[in-house]
Amino acid sequence: MEFRDLKKQYEILKPGIDRNIEEVLACARFISGPQVKELEQRLAEYVGVKYCVTCGNGTDALTLALKVWEIEAGDAVFVPDFTFFSSGECPACEGAAPIFVDVDPHTYNIDPDRLEEAIRTTQKEGKYTPRAVIAVDLFGQPADYDRIREICERYQLYLLEDGAQGFGESIRGKKACSFGDIGTTSFFPAKPLGCYGDGGAVFTDHEEWADRIRSLAVHGKSKTNKYDNLRLGMNSRLDTLQAAILMAKLDAFEQNELSDVNHVAEEYREALKELPLILPEVKEGFTSSWAQYTVQLPKGADRDLIQAELRKNDIPTMVYYMKPMHLQKAFEGTDSATGDFPVTEQLSQTVLSLPMHPYMTPEQVRYIAEKLRMALAES
Ligand SMILES: *Cc1c(COP(=O)(O)O)cnc(C)c1O
Repeated sequence: MEFRDLKKQYEILKPGIDRNIEEVLACARFISGPQVKELEQRLAEYVGVKYCVTCGNGTDALTLALKVWEIEAGDAVFVPDFTFFSSGECPACEGAAPIFVDVDPHTYNIDPDRLEEAIRTTQKEGKYTPRAVIAVDLFGQPADYDRIREICERYQLYLLEDGAQGFGESIRGKKACSFGDIGTTSFFPAKPLGCYGDGGAVFTDHEEWADRIRSLAVHGKSKTNKYDNLRLGMNSRLDTLQAAILMAKLDAFEQNELSDVNHVAEEYREALKELPLILPEVKEGFTSSWAQYTVQLPKGADRDLIQAELRKNDIPTMVYYMKPMHLQKAFEGTDSATGDFPVTEQLSQTVLSLPMHPYMTPEQVRYIAEKLRMALAES
């Protein structure tokens, strides 16, 4: 069994994907071909924002947003403690201090009460200037943007939505990557909408920022001339092949994949409801794109043993994430590593992500549930 079955997806989408790839090969505009612009327009429309700028990956997308806001040394950027490394790495690479914040045990997303506390403490200490919040849509569910937005306005902070795992999700019909002042996503193959290599995108309604991001992504070029460099930038583009592949995959994502993966989540909920697990909770009015289906094992269960048992039965599982951000060696000895993070510390011990993708069958879900039941009984 595959954790995320990209082979099966390709078998099904092959005619459209192959046709799009051949078109790019035939016209040979491998960088900035017409498909890139076309994809950006489609993505902006899908997300419901004015501007989409594609780039090399989801990490660069975060960096481009921070650069546009001139986040730098002396600034504080608030980041959930339970997330993929990039969310904290990017502000640190700009010289800012990522200030980690504990998460909500039910949604796995940044806890707005803890966020406000961290902002106040940072203000009071006076060592860093609070500038921005990076809220992550972990495992596919949007963060609590009603409250986070209000907090950002109260303290005049930029809101950056790291939607790398959340593309397609929504709150009361409003789509992921539209909740921040800037939103970003990743097209890494295993993300909800993935390409066949690295890729990413930045979303915003702010015209001037969109222009500046376009410039920063191509060596700080001017609007009309690539060899007229206005500022220091990066080389971070989505290549034409990836754009063409994404176009075929976006069709399937809109037509059936997003609803199918939600169906699989319902089947999981039904199949796992009698087991001693904490199942992922989607808030009222929210939807998830189910980048991961992550359960919490009972405290004290032997996770390694459970994973080994499942592996014996051809069921791959993953631990997202085994290490809180504040315990990563990269942040050792920095102000980022200090604070209280009881929820993240517990989650990092108990979470287990099960196979999850739109092409899973009900039989597969039931098989996983049965083997997990047996493994839990033994552990
Ligand atoms: C995957 C991911 C990223 C980084 O995306 P890449 O395309 O791999 O650079 C950033 N943030 C989160 C939360 C992610 O899951």
